[in-house]
Amino acid sequence: MTTLHGSCHCGTVKFEVEGPVESAYTCDCSLCRKKNALMAKVHESKLKITAGADKLSLYQWNTRIARHYFCSVCGIYPFHRKRSEPTEYGVNLHCLDDFDPSVLPSKLGKGKGMTVVAEGARDVWPGPRETG
Ligand SMILES: [Zn+2]
Repeated sequence: MTTLHGSCHCGTVKFEVEGPVESAYTCDCSLCRKKNALMAKVHESKLKITAGADKLSLYQWNTRIARHYFCSVCGIYPFHRKRSEPTEYGVNLHCLDDFDPSVLPSKLGKGKGMTVVAEGARDVWPGPRETG
């Protein structure tokens, strides 16, 4: 078992990943593109937040199922809980100490093709309009 240590930029958020990490992925959804994230899929049992859990901010959009965390001090994205598999994290490989993700095989996740909820869409039908 390999334990990989990760942190945000300022060091407030620290976490450990039980390795090995053997593959990486990117995602073409609008959020991951802007984060320029290179990630690995890690089961929740293999990720432990060791510091700064209370300093993580949560960003949610679209279906609001995925939970995108970032450090509230330095703004770095260390990991998120995936929408497609909520027991899995996507971990930002560039947050791992002494780890070179460029040697890993990398694939492109097709996040762009996942349904995007239209702006202003309602979860439930609000009932008939009032007339008059
Ligand atoms: Zn930070």
